[in-house]
Amino acid sequence: MPELKVISRDGSSTVTIGAETVDAFIAGHRGSCLTPADPEYDEARVIWNGSIDKRPAIIARCTGTADVIDAVNFAREHGLLVAVRGGGHNVAGNAMCDGGLVIDLSAMNSVHVDAEARTARAGGGCTIGDVDRETQAFGLATPLGVVSLTGIAGLTLCGGLGWLRRKLGMACDALISVDIITADGKLVTASKDRNADLFWAVRGGGGNFGVVTSFEYQLHPIGPTVTLCAPFYRLGDDAADIVRGWNYFMATAPEDISSTCLFWNVPHHPAFPEEYHGTPFVLPAAIHSGPPEDGEALVRPLRELGEPFLDLSGQLPYADVQSAFDPLFAKGERRNYWKSLYLNRIDDDGIARIVARAHGRPNPWALIALYHLGGAMNRVSPAETALGVRDAKYLYSLETSWTDHADDERATGWTREAWAEMQDYSNGGAYLNFPGQGEEGETLLRASYGSDNYERLVAIKTRYDPANMFRLNQNIKPNSG
Ligand SMILES: Cc1cc2nc3c(=O)[nH]c(=O)nc-3n(C[C@H](O)[C@H](O)[C@H](O)COP(=O)(O)OP(=O)(O)OC[C@H]3O[C@@H](n4cnc5c(N)ncnc54)[C@H](O)[C@@H]3O)c2cc1C
Repeated sequence: MPELKVISRDGSSTVTIGAETVDAFIAGHRGSCLTPADPEYDEARVIWNGSIDKRPAIIARCTGTADVIDAVNFAREHGLLVAVRGGGHNVAGNAMCDGGLVIDLSAMNSVHVDAEARTARAGGGCTIGDVDRETQAFGLATPLGVVSLTGIAGLTLCGGLGWLRRKLGMACDALISVDIITADGKLVTASKDRNADLFWAVRGGGGNFGVVTSFEYQLHPIGPTVTLCAPFYRLGDDAADIVRGWNYFMATAPEDISSTCLFWNVPHHPAFPEEYHGTPFVLPAAIHSGPPEDGEALVRPLRELGEPFLDLSGQLPYADVQSAFDPLFAKGERRNYWKSLYLNRIDDDGIARIVARAHGRPNPWALIALYHLGGAMNRVSPAETALGVRDAKYLYSLETSWTDHADDERATGWTREAWAEMQDYSNGGAYLNFPGQGEEGETLLRASYGSDNYERLVAIKTRYDPANMFRLNQNIKPNSG
């Protein structure tokens, strides 16, 4: 291998690493290390969002903790720009970087379940599907997200919202411990009893504090059968009434039900009858994860808010629900910009604005999701974990997708306008797994964590990563960095 030119940690210069040093690093690494000369390089740098086309200097695919330690030490000793890749689903594209070192954990995807203790330990590169597969074998689950190809790492570190959120809380709330390699190359176990400051920070503070090699989750009995509620109503003149009916129902719905109201067009996909392909809809989607015999009656009111043109409701395995959206969100297929806002309240005017936006979406792939929150996820006090917003009633998420490069400005501009338009229903905080590109910097982070949590995160960042090695994320800057 010839000498390697890598962008420096802060992006200001290029570091040249001699051939012998590079060879020694690669020889010691058990996983493969890929540079632009390798045939697998191009495949390895593809991540979910088709807008992202970054070319790292080197991708270190790790097979275990020792590889991660070596990669972190190599990056620190040479002062390199570092990106960390888990499942590669971060919409902002932070898992890749131009010219730097990518620490890629995607091969670290084993899951060990202790069915008796109801816990699971999952590698830092696992997808949601990896975890669901192993835990459902024992009739257990932990609250993760809703597309099974999404990585658990990025998802959990910034919160993790899925179909069990009102019943069991967010993914970060189910964490028992993490093993994390900090910037000094040390393995630290963080839990409520060990390194509690770090454990507090990783539950919402993102990838700022090191590379998590494994996550230990609390499991709960779920399924195997759950009730899906999926009535598709035409996005017509009565859309606001459907949303009002959904909102009224959810205000008193049992916590076994989590629900998100979706505004979209029926995808051109064989999962849907062809005659409806392309039809704009409003869908008060819900999952009831309590006793299956109760589910159908409990979700029925959502199916009677109008005349659905299509109703895919029914009982099905939890694992199937978790992967139902997968084919609609294929890797690399479309360009994406997703931006979200927590809402404290909603009224007729707010619903009218959302519905107007739904009618004016820039293309059929642009999805608006209004998540109903509350329940277990809102019972955690804002001080208990870094994730500061615990009293919001809704998450308004603009999940804008398109295909043509030429539409970039129109699609992102529309999303930003729609986001800005709802600020008077919010304290300005975003769910940091859907932060756009985090363009608002510290202002967005302060609003999303709350000032007290943000200051505490800065102190913990300063302690564990004073030189800001882990900066390609929703970056919390250390006082010293
Ligand atoms: C199709 C799709 C569906 C989604 N659905 C949901 C959903 O239902 N609920 C929800 O809450 N979110 C959802 N998301 C958002 C998702 O949670 C974030 O995109 C998240 O960042 C994905 O995690 P990842 O590991 O795949 O990300 P990656 O792109 O691999 O990494 C993202 C960032 O996480 C950090 N990171 C990754 N791995 C590690 C690690 N091992 N140690 C330390 N830091 C690490 C790094 O900072 C990295 O930049 C969805 C995203 C997509 C694209």
